[in-house]
Amino acid sequence: MQRGELLYSGKAKSVYLSDDAKRLILHFRDDTSAYDGEKVAQLARKGMVNNKFNAFVMQQLEAAGVKTHFERLLSEDESLVKRLDMIPVECVVRNIAAGSICRRLGVEEGLDLDPPTFEFFLKDDERHDPMINEYHIRSFGWASADEVEQMKDLTFRVNEVLKELFIKADLLLVDFKLEFGRYDGDVLLGDEFTPDGCRVWDSETREKLDKDRFRRDLGSVVESYEIVAKRLGVDLQ
Ligand code: C5P
Repeated sequence: MQRGELLYSGKAKSVYLSDDAKRLILHFRDDTSAYDGEKVAQLARKGMVNNKFNAFVMQQLEAAGVKTHFERLLSEDESLVKRLDMIPVECVVRNIAAGSICRRLGVEEGLDLDPPTFEFFLKDDERHDPMINEYHIRSFGWASADEVEQMKDLTFRVNEVLKELFIKADLLLVDFKLEFGRYDGDVLLGDEFTPDGCRVWDSETREKLDKDRFRRDLGSVVESYEIVAKRLGVDLQ
């Protein structure tokens, strides 16, 4: 499978057309960025680690009955995926308070959220991805009522599957962000699931092992992603 025209270049991934009109090639780059692109860096091996991490998680989700866009690994840092019609919203589930919810609601980091909470954000860099609700999504036509329900159900299902998987690896899945898209009448999980888009802490020490290491200048960013990957059983060879 050959890379075709570059369709889109994000902050950490590039998306290319492929030989097949219904498939795209994701290239996970070593670039990393935070705070809407204000802080950027190149981190050796990150593209490879995230590509393999994402493949592993997507395969685990497929095995648990969650339909995803993932097809197969193409190389160390590329994967083949189905071409989705993306819904421009981000679905965030939080099991433990951290990040923006602490700033917005004045809650302390580390608070257990029971039941887990859910938030929608609009994908709009210029407006710093504002938080939105289901009525906004329907009124502005970003998705139908049925698609909104499917995105919520699927996000909670992903949480149940991954929380279990992470707990067995002595990891706490604090929160994560998912994106969905349409494909042949179905809503499928798209984008990626990597430590760039979730928060993961060591169960014992509560050490941060995700992108907060980059955001907060804690060092050992890719090394921490590799610790998470190895504990989960991701083959990084
Ligand atoms: O920043 P905030 O606390 O709202 O992020 C919640 C979760 O969603 C975090 O795991 C973060 O990494 C992820 N996220 C993301 N992309 C965004 C916003 C948040 O991956 N644009």
